[in-house]
Formats: sequence, C-alpha cells, structure tokens
Amino acid sequence: MKIYSGIPASSGIAIGHALPIHGFGLNVPRIKVDEDELEKEIVLFKKAVKETKEDLKNVQNRVKNDIGVEESAIFDAHIMLLDDPNLIEQSIEKAREEMVSIDYAFSETLSNIVEKFRNLSDSYLKDRATDIQDVGKRVLRNYLGVSISPEIKNAEEDLIIMAHNLLPSDMAEISERKIKGIITEVGGETSHVAIMARSLEVPAIVGVNDILMEVSPKDLVIIDSNDGKIFIDPDKKTIKEYQEKRRKYVNYIKSLERLKSEEAVTRDNKKIELKINMELSSEADIVNTHNADGIGLFRTEYLFMKDVLPSEDEQFEIYKYVSQLIYPKEVTIRTADLGGDKFVSHFKIPEEMNPFLGFRGIRLCLEFTEFFKTQLKAILRASRLKNIKIMFPMISGVDELLKAKKILEEAKNDLRNDGVEFDEDVDVGIMIEVPSAAVVSDVLAKHVDFFSIGTNDLIQYTLAVDRGNKQLSYLYNPLHPSVLRLLKMVINNGQNEGIEVSMCGNMAGNPKYTILLIGLNLRKLSVAPSSILEVKKIIKELDTSECKQIVNESIKYDSNEELEEYYDNINRKHLKNVLFDYFEEG
Ligand code: PEP
Ligand code: MG
Repeated sequence: MKIYSGIPASSGIAIGHALPIHGFGLNVPRIKVDEDELEKEIVLFKKAVKETKEDLKNVQNRVKNDIGVEESAIFDAHIMLLDDPNLIEQSIEKAREEMVSIDYAFSETLSNIVEKFRNLSDSYLKDRATDIQDVGKRVLRNYLGVSISPEIKNAEEDLIIMAHNLLPSDMAEISERKIKGIITEVGGETSHVAIMARSLEVPAIVGVNDILMEVSPKDLVIIDSNDGKIFIDPDKKTIKEYQEKRRKYVNYIKSLERLKSEEAVTRDNKKIELKINMELSSEADIVNTHNADGIGLFRTEYLFMKDVLPSEDEQFEIYKYVSQLIYPKEVTIRTADLGGDKFVSHFKIPEEMNPFLGFRGIRLCLEFTEFFKTQLKAILRASRLKNIKIMFPMISGVDELLKAKKILEEAKNDLRNDGVEFDEDVDVGIMIEVPSAAVVSDVLAKHVDFFSIGTNDLIQYTLAVDRGNKQLSYLYNPLHPSVLRLLKMVINNGQNEGIEVSMCGNMAGNPKYTILLIGLNLRKLSVAPSSILEVKKIIKELDTSECKQIVNESIKYDSNEELEEYYDNINRKHLKNVLFDYFEEG
C-alpha cells in the first residue's frame, strides 16, 4: 500500500480503480513496442497530423471572422509546423530507431525543439515555443482519439482519473462521464480543476507530488478528499476502514437532502441568499434541483475553451437557455475571464512569466474589443426576461471599469440601432478580486450596481501567493488578518453606498468560514453546488449578532496562526455535530 497526501479540492470519499492519464502535458511514458505495433501506430499518427491541420484551418477561419485577420495569421505558422520534417519525420525516425511508441518519440522530439526555442535570445522566437507546444498537444490529442484518454471515452463507472494536470476542456469532457474521483499532480484549492470538480460534485485531490509514475491502470485507489489522503493498493484493513468512513459520509450527505426545501435563515430570522457558481450551462438545472436562490457566478470562459470560438448567436442561445431555465431567479453572467490558468490559443498573446499577473480577464477583453462586444451583445440579447446581471472580472480600478462600461454602452447602442430589445436596466457589477479594487472600493461602488468578492484571486494577490502553487498552499490563507481587513472594508464600502455585496470566491462555500462571513454582514453567498446544503445547515444554527461579536473579537488578532486557532475553537464550539469534520466519533 502506498499513501500520498495532497490538497483537498472537492470533498468526498471514493474507492475506485486508477485511470492514469499521461500525455496531457508532453509527459508521455516511454513504452517499448514491436515492429508491427509501431507501423500501425505510425499510420494513425500520420492521420492525426492530417486531422490536426484540418482542425487548425477551421480554428483559423473562425478566428478570422470573430477576432480579426491579424490574429488568425498565427495559425499559418502552426499549420506550417506540421509540414516541418524536423518534427514529424524525426519523430518517426526516433520511434523506429528506439522501438518506442510514436507518441513518446513525438513528445520527446517536440520537447527538444521547444527547449531550443526557449533558449533563444530573440524574444519573438522565444515566444514561438508556446506555439510549438500547443500544436504538439493538439497532435497528441488527435492521436489519442479524443481530447482525453481513449480509456475515459469507454470508462466504466468506478474510475479515478489521475493526471499531471487537466485542461479546462478536459474537465468539460469529464463532466459527461461518471467519474468517481480526480487526482492531479499540480494545482491548488482554487485552480480550475478544483473549481470544476466541486461543480461536478466529484471528490478531488490536487497538488499530489509524483503520483502518476507510481500507479498502474486499474490499481485500487482510495481518495479521502476531506483529509487530502490517497491510498494506492490499500490493505484490507484500510479498505474496511474507508468503506465505513464513506458509509458515514454518504449518510451525512443524505441527511443534508432534507434541507433542499428549506430556506437559509439564521436563528434570529435573517434570510441569507444562497446562489450557486456554475461553469457549464449544462449545470444550470442545479439551481432548481438544489433549490438555490439563483446563479451568483456563471464563469463563461469555459465556453471559449474549445477549438472553435462560439459565435454571438451560439452564445445568445446559451445565455437565453440559462435565463429561461431558472426564471424568475437571477443569473450573474461574468464576462470571459480568460488568462491565468484558463488559457486559450485563439488570442495572439506572447508567453508570460506570470500569467496570473498578466493578460487576464478584463485586460484581455479591453484589448480584443470585438470579442468582448460580441459577448456583451449576446448577453444583452438574452436579457429580455430581466433576470440577467452582467459582471466584469479582474477590475483593478475606476478607469478600467469605465472603459468596460463604455464598450457595454456601444454594444447597447448597436442593438438599439438594429431594433433589438434587451433589458435597458440590466444590472452591472464587478468582481472585487484585485487588492487595488478593494482599496478603492468606495469609489468603484459609485459606478456599479453590485460587488461580488472573488476571494480566490483576492487572497492570492493580497498575500502574493500563487493560488495554484502546491508548495505555497500553506501560505494561501483566507484567515490572514490582511484578508479579513480587506473583506471588512469592501463590504462596508459597498453597503454604505447602498449597493449589493456578495461573495462568490471559494471562501463563501467553505463551511469553516460561514460564521465569519455572516459576522462580516454578508447576506449573499454564491457557492459550488456541492457546498450549498452544508452552508445552509450551518446558517440555520447561527445568530447574526453572535457572529458579529465573533468577528469583532477576531479583528483584534495580529497573527494568522492565532486567528486560525481562534476560528478552529469557535467552529468546534458552534458546529459540533453539525459539520462532518466536527462530528464526535462513535
Ligand atoms: C475568484 O477569484 O474568487 C473567483 C470567483 O473567480 P475565479 O476563481 O474564476 O478566478
Ligand atoms: Mg477570480
């Protein structure tokens, strides 16, 4: 039995069989093959190269129409690469010489070329390394048959996917299948894999060091993502122990079901609005099945993580579908927050040293204004039922906000000129997730209808801790006094200006912070579907003035370790036998 630990990303206990996926990065295992096998592989590989060229041409045409001719030019270089004998022929030669699988030979050849480009001093050529890598991934994916491993396509019920990393598009594919659990070697609590896993309500652990090479397909695996523990090939005693633990956990989750029909109201009768965060429109019905108060965050960037960008009409259909499905409840549609760890190759952006501090969110939209306006028009067209709100991500100050609002006005004018109806009073708000925005939130509040606090980013930028870096995850702390002060400030500034303030970052859905958030006077939370009932259960135990007192006390702490200890004790006292983690044994 081997035991690993990682960062709990989506809670639950799963027992299943391993499906290790190599080949997501360029990290393909070296597999020896015989001549017959190899020749068959080479035929398939050549076919994959041809398919990739066709895919790229389609993407290019789409980008030409939707973004611009200049942006589409990059794909000429991508297509040419696939005609380059250095890459394709050399890979085939290498495979034949070493009698290794073609995907391995190809990924090795590709890595060498990428490395050479990375070491060049010319910054333009250096940036081409990313293009080469991108094309290589596309070929590998086509070679493997689907964007995820072919095994997943035929996956049976009880598989636990293990990969170095999973792309957002992979997660979208995983959502179609009954996967029991997800383990990745990289990532943190708020990386996109974690966010998607929570939405899909699949147990997941991320940031697990070097697990992939230690596991074979079909190995028995236990994930306890409440504790961040993984057991590979567990012994009988451990299997029994975890079967029992899972049974208790499943009962606990079942016991939450009855809360679906109940309101989230505190003991002193204060209604707390509980909405859900959503990544894929296919999840929208969760609002109805979980009886949530609406969708507080629709992360639309997942719509664009496809080989072909959706057109205005296609987007319109998606937003309209969601709006109609949940009517009269409301959906807050966040405009594309691309960049960071949600990268798409449609935009010509040089490789960045710090993507999270780079060309991301509203910055990208303010550069590719046609793309932005297309999305805004699609949202506005869908807003006729008046249950849509528009939210901009990554706003860092008032100038950026005004620029975004100006483009929104242009989009409205275009529609007016075309005689298209939309909600003229559509609410416009911003994420508060950049510390500078939090600091000037008194000013920003004058220009918007609402704030939604994005703690995932606010914490990473305030503490200068990459949210996806597993080595630093111990520093990524929502209970840092600086975070607490910022939250207090933003909530006060918003509420003083009379606008709505809510929270949609992961902190809102973590039941260990519910007392704190209610005490900070937040009355609107948007959480992953998997958290909604647990958070509701806690809210029903609380008294708002007691929570306020707790916050007043906690604001006095200087040390985050002491603050953590303080909340741990508070939670233990108030949530004993309420939250699974604080259940008394026996
Ligand atoms: C956040 O930053 O808290 C947030 C909700 O946005 P995302 O996780 O999509 O960056
Ligand atoms: Mg964010």
